[in-house]
Amino acid sequence: MVSIQEPTKSGWLAIQIPRKLAEEIEDFVNSSKGKEMGFTKKAQAVATACREFLEKNTPKQLILTNEKQDRNLVFNIDSNGKPKCALHGDDDCECIKELKASRVLKRLAKKKGFEIKI
Ligand SMILES: [Zn+2]
Repeated sequence: MVSIQEPTKSGWLAIQIPRKLAEEIEDFVNSSKGKEMGFTKKAQAVATACREFLEKNTPKQLILTNEKQDRNLVFNIDSNGKPKCALHGDDDCECIKELKASRVLKRLAKKKGFEIKI
C-alpha cells in the first residue's frame, strides 16, 4: 500500500519580489528605524507592508439597522469612505438612498468609526 503524506506546512509561502526592492527592504530592516520597529527579517517587514496595503484597500463592511428596525443595511465602504450596498452591489439602490436621507444612520455609522462620504 502506498501512502502519500502532505508536506509540512510552515505557515509561510515564498513570493518573489524585484531584487532591488528586496535589497531596499534589507537595508531598511538593518537601519535604526527598522530595528526600532522590531524587524529582524525582511519577511517581517514585507508581511507588515502587505497587511497595511490590504487594510487600506480592502472595503470595510458596515452593518446598520434601519430606523424601522425591520432589517439590517449592509454596506461595503471603500478606502475613500464611499458606501456600496452589499445586498444589491449598487451605489444608488434604496439602501443607499435610505443611508443618504437618514441622519440617524449616518450618526450610527460615525459611532462605528465610519466617515461616510455621500
Ligand atoms: Zn441595496
